[in-house]
Amino acid sequence: MSSGEWHDGTRCVHAGLPEPTPGAPFLPGPVFAAPYHLDPWQGPAGAVNGYGRPDNPTRRLLEAAIGELEGGDCRAFASGQAAITGLLLAVLRPGDTIVLPADGYFPVRAFATATLEGIGVRVRFVPTAGPYPSFDGVRMVLLETPANPGLDVADVAALAEAAHAAGALVAVDNTTATPLGQRPLDLGADLVVASGTKALTGHSDLLLGYVASRSAELLETVTAWRSTTGAVPGAFDAWLAHRSLATLDLRLARQTANAAAVAELLAGRADVTGLRWPGRPEDPAYRVASTQMRRMPGVLSFDLGDADRVARFVEASRLVAAATSFGGLHTTADRRAQWGDDTAPGFVRLSCGVEDTADLLADLTAALDSAAQGRRLS
Ligand SMILES: *Cc1c(COP(=O)(O)O)cnc(C)c1O
Repeated sequence: MSSGEWHDGTRCVHAGLPEPTPGAPFLPGPVFAAPYHLDPWQGPAGAVNGYGRPDNPTRRLLEAAIGELEGGDCRAFASGQAAITGLLLAVLRPGDTIVLPADGYFPVRAFATATLEGIGVRVRFVPTAGPYPSFDGVRMVLLETPANPGLDVADVAALAEAAHAAGALVAVDNTTATPLGQRPLDLGADLVVASGTKALTGHSDLLLGYVASRSAELLETVTAWRSTTGAVPGAFDAWLAHRSLATLDLRLARQTANAAAVAELLAGRADVTGLRWPGRPEDPAYRVASTQMRRMPGVLSFDLGDADRVARFVEASRLVAAATSFGGLHTTADRRAQWGDDTAPGFVRLSCGVEDTADLLADLTAALDSAAQGRRLS
């Protein structure tokens, strides 16, 4: 079996590891360096590492790992925002038009309105579920699927075909799905952007972002941007991320199973409305999601009516932590409106952790029952 035929768990465990060397660790520890020793005669041409901003061996191993999983070459960034804003600023020029998800990650939309429009880029917001306008005259289409936090889904292959026919580039934010959930480059996208802060690394202990592509030209543009702006992750974060990647298959398997069981539970409750999980056959996103995705995310969203009921629910729960971000080991709930985005006051994004399914269902049932009674516990 060649590594290209391995299944997800095997690919995650081996992704980006150097060839076995007796006496060396499986995953070499982080290399901390600003400058490296130079060859006195050849200077920077004499070795792969000259200076820490462009060159770091720990980061390169992580990039090899993520690149293997995405099916392209990868450049790691200090955060998802650094990767996404870096790609947009590196590629777009005044007068260009970009299509962005109207329901996508809020800080990307805020950046587009504040910064991109400020430098003369035309920004068009389109709902992830469509309908999409003609892409004539568009330079880039950024899709986010499943979209955070509403979990609508876009048909990447169909939209990539339409965008390419109009001469537009297609980038897909793969944060929610992770490369095990979906492979946008295989579906025809030119670029993947993502936050590695969420399910990809999954331990709620670091910030990371990346861009992946099969285009040498686009990667060169992105690499030059990263080197000049310095938006690189540190060696320790890169190493922690690589270590965590090995368990991605295991973590996602439990998170998806938990999300499926929680979706079933929530669907049967009259006090929960607006339930969205693309893995439910009744969900509007199911048809496209089940064709283009390799597995479903551990994140779902729903509405509890108002902010007080959300607070009572989280306070009453022993397993659900109030926290933003998602994809971590611990189940978390985020009432998005508290961050000033445009969701309803009772809207909750619930990220299922890797707890035992039965424990999680029992806890959620008790917490929702308690929240429905309208009392504060403390
Ligand atoms: C979190 C997130 C980002 C930004 O990532 P950071 O690592 O927090 O900078 C971008 N896109 C999506 C869909 C996200 O969920």
